[in-house]
Amino acid sequence: MIQVTDLHKSFGNTDVLKGINCGIDPSEVVCVIGPSGSGKSTFLRCLNLLESITAGEVVVDGRSLADPATDINHVRAEVGMVFQQFNLFPHKKVIENLMLAPVKIRKISEKEARERCLTLLEKVGLADKADQYPQQLSGGQQQRVAIARALAMEPKMMLFDEPTSALDPELVGEVLAVMKQLANEGMTMFVVTHEMGFAREVGDRVLFMDDGMIVEEGIPEKIFSDPQLERTQEFLNKIL
Ligand code: ADP
Ligand code: MG
Repeated sequence: MIQVTDLHKSFGNTDVLKGINCGIDPSEVVCVIGPSGSGKSTFLRCLNLLESITAGEVVVDGRSLADPATDINHVRAEVGMVFQQFNLFPHKKVIENLMLAPVKIRKISEKEARERCLTLLEKVGLADKADQYPQQLSGGQQQRVAIARALAMEPKMMLFDEPTSALDPELVGEVLAVMKQLANEGMTMFVVTHEMGFAREVGDRVLFMDDGMIVEEGIPEKIFSDPQLERTQEFLNKIL
């Protein structure tokens, strides 16, 4: 689904990504862990061209992102993204938040969009909140709306950048439950997270990033129980 080859990203003279190689198979759930500033968010943002690529190649569903012939909007429509901050439109109702992109970009009718989006709200357990505004919802509910909004574009894969880091602890579980359900349905997912329980239970593979590179990767059991590198061990000791 995604093939990344020797990806480099610099901001001015600062090299942030220093040669990333990685592939994601359809229906795979890949969790990314690593210290703050190691380049996790930048990596994720390169996958749907929220950041330009300095060097290397990223191929998403057969399309090379650096190829001028690639329609960036098409790629973005296929790759849903959920951020730490929910980024909902505050002046729009929940249902309108979901309907906006399908109507404007996918050009489906308001009526069909409304029906589909209501189904998605049901899926994340928020059908009764359709006509509320984001501020009337808890953080966990807002993040579930953000996930439903991303799904409304019927993406082929979903990127999550620390989706539960801004939430009060008691609200984390409801968001992880929605993500787990998505994974069980076969969604391809790339998840930056500090939720090691989630990574262990739902992840097929864990990537440990440090200083702009993937320095260790493997199945969760291996990374968490028997990390090969000292810096992986040090990081895990700090957060577990
Ligand atoms: P992480 O998500 O792992 O915490 P980031 O990808 O956010 O790491 O950041 C990696 C490094 O890139 C940091 O040193 C950060 O300061 C730098 N960085 C990120 N975005 C920008 C930007 N737009 N301009 C300059 N530097 C940036
Ligand atoms: Mg980050």
